[in-house]
Amino acid sequence: MLRFYKKMRNFFLYICLFLLAPVGAGGKEFTLVIDPGHGGKDPGALGSIAKEKNINLAVALKVGELIAERHGDVRVIYTRRNDHFVDLDERAGIANRNKADLFISIHANALSRKDIKGTETYTLGLARTDENLQVAMRENAAILLENDYMQKYEGFNPHSTESYIIFEFMQNRHVEQSISFASQVQKEFIAARRINRGVRQAGFLVLRKTSMPSALVELGYISNAEEEHYMTSAAGQTQLSKALCEAFTRFKREYDHKQGTAKITAPTTAPTQPAARKEVYPTTDGRTVYKVQILASGRKLPAKARVLKGYSHTRYYVENGMYKYTYGETTDIMEIKAIRKKVSRDFKDAFIIAITDGEKTIVR
Ligand SMILES: [Zn+2]
Repeated sequence: MLRFYKKMRNFFLYICLFLLAPVGAGGKEFTLVIDPGHGGKDPGALGSIAKEKNINLAVALKVGELIAERHGDVRVIYTRRNDHFVDLDERAGIANRNKADLFISIHANALSRKDIKGTETYTLGLARTDENLQVAMRENAAILLENDYMQKYEGFNPHSTESYIIFEFMQNRHVEQSISFASQVQKEFIAARRINRGVRQAGFLVLRKTSMPSALVELGYISNAEEEHYMTSAAGQTQLSKALCEAFTRFKREYDHKQGTAKITAPTTAPTQPAARKEVYPTTDGRTVYKVQILASGRKLPAKARVLKGYSHTRYYVENGMYKYTYGETTDIMEIKAIRKKVSRDFKDAFIIAITDGEKTIVR
């Protein structure tokens, strides 16, 4: 079974490599997804005059415009272009479906202490300070406005410290590039004379669900009068956008350089069928196979990993760059329900998935 998974994964990778092969003389097109945080019914942090959602959108659109002007080979996609609410997993979904090469989420920060100001750029990871955790908690709370968030985020509670343990296993393969981009952002903010609060890590759901290098930028503190004024002014927004565009340009230069030294060539006998958008699951000849999903991890876990709690017959599948671990396998729904009940003593958020002809659904 595991070998079959691997085979399918390799096949999928093969198709991906084919799609990644250079197009035209200018090389492969680079896809950038810009995500203006919040929107619609979710205003984000509130200043004395401004709403975070409006600052995020104004800066995001400006950055995208500057980048599109400067880089003919970059396709810019926004998760929203106007004032409406978009679910966090949909924001990541837009990036994943478009096979983005970089995902930038744009936000503004807030604290009850009004004197604190400055910029921070986050990459995905386990928060090492309470302060960073608080930022992630505030940003993740956006899911509470979504329908069905318990199911969608697998029981994640944005306000519970315990929920954030999942980010301990988030050291995925994009960490290095994400940090590299985040560092460029902070460098450019320093050049623009903003106060540098550094590159940090915390558990942001929107970053967790993306499967490419990603960063979340906090442009400044809306709770600080001076920065609120700066971020709502056209001059401030332009300066911040230029800094982000510059950071992107540096990141892209490095990216192009790496692409050049490690050229990917399309196999001469490349599969001709269109690449599957769907994730690859083993086909089941029309039968439905049920499994209990117990855990998701950013990397492949060793068989005896502590988090698997001694369960030895676990299997995994890969979805959006995440390794999803399952336990049990049966065509009998009653049997899988019994297994889930047993397993939920150790994995309280365990849920049932059904696989029919390569298609996964969550059983409610
Ligand atoms: Zn925000």
